[in-house]
Amino acid sequence: MNGEVKVLSVKDRWEAMDEKTREHIKMWHKSLSLIKANAFAYKQAGANPVQMIEDIEFILQMLWGFPCDANFHSHWLDIRGCECPRMDNMDRIGYGRVINQSCPWHGNNERYYESND
Ligand SMILES: [Zn+2]
Repeated sequence: MNGEVKVLSVKDRWEAMDEKTREHIKMWHKSLSLIKANAFAYKQAGANPVQMIEDIEFILQMLWGFPCDANFHSHWLDIRGCECPRMDNMDRIGYGRVINQSCPWHGNNERYYESND
């Protein structure tokens, strides 16, 4: 033990990963794409696509061997209809989110939720 911390790149991690884990990652990415693109339909069906995306981002962090940390999530920005500032969030990834309060998914106006009445 020399106390050295080995930092693995994403490429290193992918190459060191077993095939089953890679397949799981690909599967979760397909689910993410579907949920992000069809978020309103999921919402209408009674699901919570914002929570689903968050859960999958944690699963992906686990599969990749990264710490489970919501500050490093980025897929939440890709949910269709999100009005949060993409560049601001990507610039400060790891340091908390910048939320547009009028975003139908992440803001406080709950306008998609009200449309279910
Ligand atoms: Zn948003």
